[in-house]
Amino acid sequence: MKKTITVIPGDGIGTEVVAGALQILDVIAKRFDHTFEYKNALAGGAALDTTGIPLPEETLKLAKLSDAVLLGAVGGPKWDSNPQHLKPERALLGLRKELGLYANIRPAKIYSALVDASALKKEVVEGVDIIVVRELTGGLYFGKPSGFEQRNGEEVGFNTMIYSESEVRRIAESAFEIARKRSKKLCSVDKANVLETSQLWRKVVLEVAKKYPDVELSHMYVDNCSMQLIRNPKQFDVIVTENLFGDILSDEAAMLTGSIGMLASASLGGTVAMYEPVHGSAPDIAGQNKANPIATIASVAMMLKYSFNLSLEADAIENSIQRVLSKGFRTGDIYTEGMTLLGTKEMTKKIVENL
Ligand code: NAD
Repeated sequence: MKKTITVIPGDGIGTEVVAGALQILDVIAKRFDHTFEYKNALAGGAALDTTGIPLPEETLKLAKLSDAVLLGAVGGPKWDSNPQHLKPERALLGLRKELGLYANIRPAKIYSALVDASALKKEVVEGVDIIVVRELTGGLYFGKPSGFEQRNGEEVGFNTMIYSESEVRRIAESAFEIARKRSKKLCSVDKANVLETSQLWRKVVLEVAKKYPDVELSHMYVDNCSMQLIRNPKQFDVIVTENLFGDILSDEAAMLTGSIGMLASASLGGTVAMYEPVHGSAPDIAGQNKANPIATIASVAMMLKYSFNLSLEADAIENSIQRVLSKGFRTGDIYTEGMTLLGTKEMTKKIVENL
């Protein structure tokens, strides 16, 4: 199989973890006789420094022409005071919108070897295997009007949360399809007791549910869900929710698994999908060989599975991660006493060796 992948390392630890993930892809290509051609592209702070804008046209062009996109992370203190349209994070929103990536799939699965790395008790997290399906191109992050203005002699900031029936329907269908292939349980999370967008969300999800009588649907308010994720996470299998709620809940779910450095994601919906770790550019540890590369390596496994239909190859990566963790190798974020502490490069090497 021959595939072209647009590679966007981005900023901070993005460059370090993407380098690791490409090493894994190279080994997979060799072992399974595939050709992966990488096209490097700029986005975020790296693009701002070189071209003056966060998402150059060239990057979008390459992304649209490729078979998949691998992204590290963007952002950092250097660009924090930039005006809104020149913030590195605009690149993410632009890529999602331009590629039509409305469904963000974020698995939060605890590796058995990491049960002790979770901040929660072993009996609470053992066996947790959740997928958060987050709507990615609507809601508060994209709604218009948004901005700043003077009102009654002071500055106000405002955003608009807006969802159309079709936006809710397509993400609900994606979530039902995923739930159908797992334990057939879907929890739709909203704030329908307060927000009109959530009332519409619930109405449309209920309509879509009629097409999936085999899937057991439940509804939960977002505040309750954030509590239940800590109290009894094993009650969840697939969660579907809107953009902002999904952003927050998936980070919370991340902590069940021990570290945000473990969490992979896939953004689907358009013709080209994008794969990225859930974490950001982690400026506090950037350039120090401390970042956990597993989230990005697991994102590459998702790419093989979802975009290229290479399940065997994806499983090989997952198994290697499992093996390395079982042998007690850890990066700092998942380190517990008695384990062997490794840097980004050394952890990558271990995963390569165990493939
Ligand atoms: P972050 O995810 O970068 O870091 C949060 C904490 O988790 C930090 O302490 C960091 O050291 C740690 N961490 C994150 N990834 C890790 C890894 N792989 N291994 C070990 N530790 C890890 O979130 P933040 O600090 O809120 O944001 C930093 C920058 O990243 C900001 O500019 C933000 O806008 C950006 N950001 C980008 C993305 C993205 O590109 N998708 C996502 C979130 C945040």
